[in-house]
Amino acid sequence: MEDNTITLRDIYRARHAIAPLVRRTPLVQSSALSQHIGASVYLKLETVHDMGAFKIRGATYRLQNLTEEERRRGVIAISTGNHGRGVAYAAKRMGIRAVVCMSKIVSEDKVREIRGLGAEVRILGNNFDDTRAEAERLVAKEGFVMVEPFDDPYVIAGQGTIGLEILEDLPEVDTVLVPVGGGGLISGIAIALKSAESIIRVIGVSMERGATMYESQKAGKPVEVEELQTLADNLGGGIGLNNRYTFKLVQKYVDDIITVSEEQIVAAMKYAYEKERLVTEGAAAVGIAVLLNNLVDDIGRRVVIIISARNVNIEVFLRIISGNKS
Ligand SMILES: *Cc1c(COP(=O)(O)O)cnc(C)c1O
Repeated sequence: MEDNTITLRDIYRARHAIAPLVRRTPLVQSSALSQHIGASVYLKLETVHDMGAFKIRGATYRLQNLTEEERRRGVIAISTGNHGRGVAYAAKRMGIRAVVCMSKIVSEDKVREIRGLGAEVRILGNNFDDTRAEAERLVAKEGFVMVEPFDDPYVIAGQGTIGLEILEDLPEVDTVLVPVGGGGLISGIAIALKSAESIIRVIGVSMERGATMYESQKAGKPVEVEELQTLADNLGGGIGLNNRYTFKLVQKYVDDIITVSEEQIVAAMKYAYEKERLVTEGAAAVGIAVLLNNLVDDIGRRVVIIISARNVNIEVFLRIISGNKS
């Protein structure tokens, strides 16, 4: 894949390649949400992957496109969240050495979990920027290949396979709500859906606290936004001031980005559990928050929400589920 063009065919290629290694996920109707908004609402359950998140798709396809020589060198990722899990899991399945870098503030259980998935963990800097600089030194010194979390054509094509599955299961889809962090997930899905028919609406959702892609689109160029604590932590972080792919793809293909508050995310996680018995993390519940608060006008008759992952910390989850605040 060259330049900035990722095509529908690239997404089919990704689908063909990852099929033996990545589960096809179910699209299930939610009666509760359908009743709530008076339209048919479907949940795309990316929670059913082995490591609990859609990032297995892009990570697998990226690793499948390493050269023989790169495979021997091994890969490196910087992440305390689902990107690290995805790369660790995919690398293990494919017999590739993986190193996941984290900063010193990471909790012991995250380190244990990533190790459990088969990756080596290196605790580097005091914060993200430090860690990135140290990881780049490792790349230079030990020859690892850096796997980017979203700004990579193979990763974007891999995440886009979700769009193909939606079209197959629900060809009449009107609107899709997609959580937005760095924008790889929504870019891939939007390329697939808009290539099928441009009137399908693709709407991004981020948290109010630290919505970098949202602010960047408003500014017309990638900007930095202060990183704040949020329940949707897997949507946090920058998009890179030198963003190569996702900023432009979102600009071109995405109809709108909406933000939701922490209270709305709490209520959505609680709702998902109470009505659907679904365990979701904050980043995965933002689409439900949009519907519960009727934040989109003329949403159409068939709506899909991407439920992107289930990897919530158990104490956080219990606190939310047992709280009366909603
Ligand atoms: C990474 C992630 C996203 C957002 O994906 P981007 O490609 O960064 O926009 C959404 N939900 C969850 C749970 C994630 O881990």
